[in-house]
Amino acid sequence: MSDQTAAVRIRFVLVGTQHPGNMGAAARALKTMGLARLVLVAPEKPLDEEAFRRSAGAEDVLGDAPVVATLAEAVADCTLVLGCTARARRVQLEELLPAVAAARLADKAGEGAEVALVFGRERTGLTNEELQLCHAAVHIPSDPAFSSLNLAAAVQVLAYEVRMRLLQATPVPALPSADGGAREQPASHEQMESFFGQLGQTLDEIDFHKGRAPDSAMRKLRRLFLRAEPSEQEVRLLRGILADAQRMAKLAR
Ligand code: SAH
Repeated sequence: MSDQTAAVRIRFVLVGTQHPGNMGAAARALKTMGLARLVLVAPEKPLDEEAFRRSAGAEDVLGDAPVVATLAEAVADCTLVLGCTARARRVQLEELLPAVAAARLADKAGEGAEVALVFGRERTGLTNEELQLCHAAVHIPSDPAFSSLNLAAAVQVLAYEVRMRLLQATPVPALPSADGGAREQPASHEQMESFFGQLGQTLDEIDFHKGRAPDSAMRKLRRLFLRAEPSEQEVRLLRGILADAQRMAKLAR
């Protein structure tokens, strides 16, 4: 059974696109698969005639696409963010096959969450900093000797997999949590980033790094907490612990 209500909560985010024509072709790829939510992050050039020509009937999807300045802004309200990469990166993220990624996105969206699939620039893909904002990476298992698909072709592959999953999906009733109460809301991207900000500050204040560069520890901690997909309540609990640690550190100074 097709689950159209889940489809509206799945957004495809194109970061720093260099050729406007690719944005048009991506809009077409989405529309053929019954998807319509495209978000453009700081495209190099504005949409032009070529972009609308390549959208070939998906002018509505392209014209409705919001343009925002940063990836963080594009995914602020999302509880699952997956980043598509053509090659392995230094950022050690879990790497998913397209069908597995599509299942996670469609299932989360089916539970009422906002989710995002992120695509990089034609020349250079996503930066490591942008991948850091993602819960996991998605790789289309192309020939390692020629691994990079055209941007809109990559969008088509993922849009197809999402559609396949949505066609199979029967809406799942929300599961009760362990304590028998209603299922807790997962923390949003924005809430996780505020938590990471406070965690970084606390580690400084308790002199955790002792002169070492903080980046490596923060990367590992981000990975751990993003993998756990904590609820809003769990993030509040963690932030309460941090606030107490910060208070004690201040007293000790
Ligand atoms: N030279 C760039 C390729 C960018 S292609 C690089 O090395 O990353 C533009 C975008 O299409 C990529 O950022 C990625 O989001 C997507 N893409 C292309 N090929 C892909 C593949 N094999 N698997 C997953 N995503 C891919």
